[in-house]
Amino acid sequence: MTVPRTMRAMVLTQPGKPLELRELPAPRPGPGQLLLRVRCCAVCRTDLHLVDGELPSPKLPVIPGHEIVGEVVAAGDGAERFEPGQRVGVPWLGWTCGECSHCRAGRENLCENARFHGYTLDGGFAELTVADHRYAFPLPPGYGDVEAAPLLCAGLIGYRTYRLAGEEIDRLGLYGFGAAAHIVAQIAVHQGRKVFAFTRPGDTAAQEFARALGAVWAGGSDETPPQELDAALIFAPVGPLIPAALRAVRAGGVVVSGGIHMSDIPSFPYRILWQERVVRSVANLTRRDGDELLALAPKVPIRTHTEVLPLADANLALDRLRAGDVEGALVLDCGESPLSR
Ligand SMILES: [Zn+2]
Ligand SMILES: [Zn+2]
Repeated sequence: MTVPRTMRAMVLTQPGKPLELRELPAPRPGPGQLLLRVRCCAVCRTDLHLVDGELPSPKLPVIPGHEIVGEVVAAGDGAERFEPGQRVGVPWLGWTCGECSHCRAGRENLCENARFHGYTLDGGFAELTVADHRYAFPLPPGYGDVEAAPLLCAGLIGYRTYRLAGEEIDRLGLYGFGAAAHIVAQIAVHQGRKVFAFTRPGDTAAQEFARALGAVWAGGSDETPPQELDAALIFAPVGPLIPAALRAVRAGGVVVSGGIHMSDIPSFPYRILWQERVVRSVANLTRRDGDELLALAPKVPIRTHTEVLPLADANLALDRLRAGDVEGALVLDCGESPLSR
């Protein structure tokens, strides 16, 4: 495969401004890196937080995108684990130091020196990208490129959020029924759990979508579920959902927030936290989360619902995500020839 000299990319130059379509020099793989021709890249709410200036200290300019399905074009020295032509998935976690106390304790998701694709490293809203081979995953062969893309963040972070809620769950609440929840719902149903889906009040289309994926109940986030929940996962960046979820979980229940950014949480009475209820957040992912989710996906089997837009329409994709006008996940087609599922 010949390496092009230039590539098209959607670039963020300044938070608060739209992405700009630019022609840039093609990246070159350094030691340990893969050069990837990006086939597609899913759009995540974190991309929206980045563009809206809600994440501190991004690399600027930066190419967003961290749910990358790519084909290896060339491997730098030491990156021979993958061969040219092989398909790989590249997630948010792009590099860790291996030396800080978190890395040494097996918590690389909390590495003090971590780098992230589409934030502090360039990402996948481009025709080409580079990635450290140690943080790239082989993808399950039964999945098309577009179908696999949302597994790489909605799937991985969703899975970590679900895992941190613990094992003792029969009734699971999902607040915000977007890309992550539509994947987690399928895992939970497969594992015999009852899913209660909470959407924006009045969003009957999302509630219908949740029921179609096996939710036993779907309603607005302002509604009380018909039964107490054992745990609740929050995938919408809306602070008031924390006390709402605490009110819905049983004594000893867990509320886990999966997002990187959330509006302020309003004050709430201690009694809704009392009785050993727990509130916790999830940060990033470990490679173990990726290995586990990608092994589990074909067994469920997880089917992702996607809509494909051209790379140049990345701003439109972000606008639609902001408006909640997405069923499942939006995926940017970054290849030269249009993708079909
Ligand atoms: Zn570290
Ligand atoms: Zn993401």
